[in-house]
Amino acid sequence: MTSRTAAATLVLVLALATALPAAQVTRRLAITIDDLPWVNRSAANWLPNAQAGTARLLDTLRGHGARAVVFVNEGQLAVVGERQARTALLESWVAGGHTLANHTYSHADANRLSIGAFKDEISKGERVSQVLMAGREPYQRYFRHPMTHTGDSPEKKAAIDAFLAERGVKVAPHTIENADWLFNGAYVRAVDTGDQAAQARLRDAYLTYSLAVTEFAELASVRVFGREIPQTLLIHSNAITADRLDLLLTRLASRGYRFVTLDEAMTDAAYRTADAHVSRHGPTWLFRWSRSLGQDISFAGEPEPPDWVTEMANRP
Ligand SMILES: [Zn+2]
Repeated sequence: MTSRTAAATLVLVLALATALPAAQVTRRLAITIDDLPWVNRSAANWLPNAQAGTARLLDTLRGHGARAVVFVNEGQLAVVGERQARTALLESWVAGGHTLANHTYSHADANRLSIGAFKDEISKGERVSQVLMAGREPYQRYFRHPMTHTGDSPEKKAAIDAFLAERGVKVAPHTIENADWLFNGAYVRAVDTGDQAAQARLRDAYLTYSLAVTEFAELASVRVFGREIPQTLLIHSNAITADRLDLLLTRLASRGYRFVTLDEAMTDAAYRTADAHVSRHGPTWLFRWSRSLGQDISFAGEPEPPDWVTEMANRP
């Protein structure tokens, strides 16, 4: 079978699976949320926006029975007069049954730092979280590299991996990334200018794109592992995700997804594949695993966000 007929067969199989009632399809999805407590480009109204957005995210996850691993930049807490209120946002995640994890202190880019400086960012990045999570010991601790830049040389990647492993910390993979950071850049601008038509258009495009990248990950996982593996979604603690996550999870549930913990997803054999891929970029783990397994599968069909969203997000 050529790869093209194989791909066509997979599309057919997935089309049939999509048509089945949800109860007959077993797909699993772990949810991970980055850049806590809250992504907001402007300092104005940071706290009320963060409080309202956090409440929406927590309500949505509770409504879908989902427990997430959430990656914190503790540097965001260090604001005079707001430290307690910002820390309270993290406490609300713990109270909701979610797991705080380390995303470095200041959202540091491993490409730009020495090994020693990056290790300092890791050490400094989980002090508050560990105190807040003390009541949940023992629990699996996770780390996610900002921009998922996991080390741009074999030496740096190996040194960071070893540093984390010695501490019992697992690197959190992701298999689906919906570019919500880009959509949010445009969305926050549309909120600031009161452009409701643009906000609605962005919310629709966010949902369409999220489902397109999910479908791509399903197909890619069959090509890499010969089956659909549990997927891991990477999203951010931001306005557009807070406004659209409920509908997205509803649509995913109707695709047959059950929301599982990252701990559960990680028990799948696929997640035990070593990530030996060294890059300056931050591809998904499906790409990393495929390259680590020596496969020559093309990921060229991976959907890109619409150009108009990129243009709107980058407008001066
Ligand atoms: Zn991040």
